[in-house]
Amino acid sequence: MLANIRVVLVNTTHPGNIGAAARAMKTMRLEKLYLVQPEKFPCAEATARASGADDILAAAHVCDSLDAALAGCSLVFGASARLRTIAWPQVGPRECAQLAVAESASGEVALVFGREDSGLTNAELERCHYLMHIPSNPAYSSLNLAAAVQVMAYEVMMAYDMGAVGDASLVRVPGEYMERVTADEMAQFYEHLRQTMIDIEFFDPAKPRRLMRRMHRMFNRIQLDRNEYNILRGILTAVQKKHSK
Ligand code: SAH
Repeated sequence: MLANIRVVLVNTTHPGNIGAAARAMKTMRLEKLYLVQPEKFPCAEATARASGADDILAAAHVCDSLDAALAGCSLVFGASARLRTIAWPQVGPRECAQLAVAESASGEVALVFGREDSGLTNAELERCHYLMHIPSNPAYSSLNLAAAVQVMAYEVMMAYDMGAVGDASLVRVPGEYMERVTADEMAQFYEHLRQTMIDIEFFDPAKPRRLMRRMHRMFNRIQLDRNEYNILRGILTAVQKKHSK
């Protein structure tokens, strides 16, 4: 199950932090590392800081977009040092770990960490079901990237060893198994929704306000199962077809 939980580092500047993150992961039995456009990788400094965890670096997936790193994931957490101007469902590391371990029994989970200087963008955060914030000194809340990975990885391992079931209602309804939809499929859905709303002139891309952000937030909260997803895609296709006549 831990194999279904990946750590995604976005745009990391310092290769030393990549190595230190790999070490933090391996000490807590996490193995899957995804690097989205790292500034410098592979790099001797990363290997040095990984110490004995260079096997994790060697197996790391280097991706050219966050979408690629999230492919196949049904639950995504974005780690953030700051509380955002945009309200988003928020969890601490312990609750995050429980949800992640519970989900990992049936799906893939991503823990996404941002840039050293600027963290994650709002657009990146929108791809996440939850924002994960490690409680810290309000006057100095930003942990080093690898330190944040360490705290989160520790909680994941502890939740796993305690047999966390998390909120089982997230993945099951009584007597029925819900097949979850992955992040890449949701990206296609949002594009379909956006295009349809443009077609019917409900949405003007020149005046976006916060419509798409609100749509992301709503569907992240709901977490569609496959049937619901197919119905919504079908409705959008039908609307487009009718409108083009
Ligand atoms: N100056 C940046 C902080 C970057 S720290 C900012 O204001 O956003 C690099 C990354 O480590 C962050 O993007 C986040 O993923 C993680 N991180 C650091 N401190 C954290 C905290 N208190 N809680 C959760 N994640 C944290």
